Amino acid sequence: MFDKILIANRGEIACRIIDTCRLLGVRSVAIHSDIDAASRHVEMADEAVSLGGQTPAESYLRIDAVIDAARRTGAQAIHPGYGFLSENPDFVEAVEKAGLVFIGPSAKAIRAMGLKDAAKTLMHEAGVPVVPGYHGAAQDNLAAEADKIGYPVLIKAVAGGGGKGMRRVDAPSEFADALAAAQSEALKAFGNDVVLIEKYVSKPRHIEVQVFGDGTRAVHLFERDCSLQRRHQKVIEEAPAPGMTADMRDAMGQAAVRAAEAVGYAGAGTVEFIVDASDGLSPDKFWFMEMNTRLQVEHPVSEEITGVDLVAWQLRVAAGEGLPAKQSDLRIKGHAFEARIYAEDVPAGFLPATGTLEHLNFADARIDTGVRQGDEISPFYDPMIAKLTVHGADRAQALAALERALSDTQIAGTVTNIAFLKALAQHEGFGAGDVDTGLIERDLDALTAPAVPCTRCRSVAAVVALGAQAGGQTGFSLWGPLEQRVALQWGDDEIAAQVATLGGGTYRVSLGETGHQVARTSNGWSVDGQKIAAKAVRTDDGVTVFWGNTYSFTVADPLDRASGQLAGDATLAPMPGLVKAVFVEAGQEVTEGDKLAVLEAMKMEHVLRAGRDGVVASVHVSEGAQIAAGDPMIILEEQP
Ligand code: ADP
Repeated sequence: MFDKILIANRGEIACRIIDTCRLLGVRSVAIHSDIDAASRHVEMADEAVSLGGQTPAESYLRIDAVIDAARRTGAQAIHPGYGFLSENPDFVEAVEKAGLVFIGPSAKAIRAMGLKDAAKTLMHEAGVPVVPGYHGAAQDNLAAEADKIGYPVLIKAVAGGGGKGMRRVDAPSEFADALAAAQSEALKAFGNDVVLIEKYVSKPRHIEVQVFGDGTRAVHLFERDCSLQRRHQKVIEEAPAPGMTADMRDAMGQAAVRAAEAVGYAGAGTVEFIVDASDGLSPDKFWFMEMNTRLQVEHPVSEEITGVDLVAWQLRVAAGEGLPAKQSDLRIKGHAFEARIYAEDVPAGFLPATGTLEHLNFADARIDTGVRQGDEISPFYDPMIAKLTVHGADRAQALAALERALSDTQIAGTVTNIAFLKALAQHEGFGAGDVDTGLIERDLDALTAPAVPCTRCRSVAAVVALGAQAGGQTGFSLWGPLEQRVALQWGDDEIAAQVATLGGGTYRVSLGETGHQVARTSNGWSVDGQKIAAKAVRTDDGVTVFWGNTYSFTVADPLDRASGQLAGDATLAPMPGLVKAVFVEAGQEVTEGDKLAVLEAMKMEHVLRAGRDGVVASVHVSEGAQIAAGDPMIILEEQP
């Protein structure tokens, strides 16, 4: 085993790898950007090397600086995590040239699987079923190929990833436009506009197989179902796949092992399949999509059902050991779910959010995280807060545990997607295991409807807004009822509360038509004489109440109204990002819904549209500008 390794990553995955290093007695070296100097992965590692910079390009993607850090600290091997340099064959070669071990597959295996068209050809030759379609080099006959395949079809960038450069086309008349859009997106994102065309599978399920190789032979650690996706991004993953039959599992496992062995795969990898679930699962209805040549974000669900520490296996195989287990040693125990908790504004269209984690209390579950209370979610990296993973004896128990753990997760200081994840956990079709990649989109409105705080919750918020804390002291006079007004805001709702201090930690809150008596208890709150399981915290700009759901109120500041008015006429940047396009100029007339500009933030493009009819008064941004949240972008002339 190695004495010391360097982890060329940050966030939760760096922390995850360090956990296993500690178990194995391997010393760990972290690297970090300036932004991450005090982050959790740096604190956890035995040593840390600063690479400086803010963006990934200035820090985590600098091949020479990463290798130099390993050399200077005497690390013998480099673990790349996922993302960043993990699937860059040039990095693998540079690591090996420096006399270090890359903890992962060979550069050759990564290259073989790097482009979707070449990978599909290779897999077809290895006897792995691939999606029917066209993946040839010639690009001048694509419309005819699409006709041959039969609509609907999917256009995919061969260099694609993260759902970019991908378009579904339902009819021949839409083909040319969709092709142009996919090609231009692919060229911008990957510098390569070659595409392939696939049959669009109906009622598609995304089922992937975890494989593990030693460079010659491979085993599989069963499947994960990642069908709950939004815009081709995974939201909740589970293992095993609901409804999986023994026949199909065998067939998929064997196909995945053939795929891995065909490229001499070493380490942990994932073979992704698309499954046609229109008539249930059947062993002749799955097809290879691509292989991810790294440890996957959702690997914890496989670890939970097999009891295997995949990172420990990665280190052992990289250190020269053979495969740690035979296929017949591996068994599925129970069921596991993973939910990805993000800082994002779901009702606003899943906009990535930033903020300080003023209050952070995770549930009793497996938590993979790179942040602590008080840390910042910055605009520079992925806004993931944590992965929450639960395990149960069967799917129903695991799902109940997921719902409970999401309810018990308390995060204040930034908006999160927890309510959305919880709505998914309560979704009837998901509960029945009837999943497909269109589930979220079909039921999006119901899944993103915000939970409305009841009047008891509002009353507690009003009391806390005035400075009272459960179990704590209040600044209020204990003599005679002191009346105070408090103006709260929840979404667009303005809540006017009148709070009378009755003494002894008791308050009478009136909210217009209704009212409640709220009392502090030694460890919580009671409302109208009934103890409630709520917790409330003051944040920078308001109050957050955790009571099954998370309800965030801002304490209205009369001064804010003026800026609210401005916001009606101004399009402000909803988040920090890069201006990709500006479509209007001063003097131009616009109608409500017209596209004004495109902002790129956290790997996604956000179209900003006119909120009303009007005339553009001024344009404050230009293409290529980096802007901060709240910056005015486009201002309309005042309404007459
Ligand atoms: P990327 O590398 O950009 O993530 P993938 O090839 O992995 O692209 O596909 C991403 C997602 O798109 C899949 O998980 C699945 O939901 C959907 N998808 C891909 N291929 C097909 C297909 N042929 N038919 C239907 N859906 C598909």
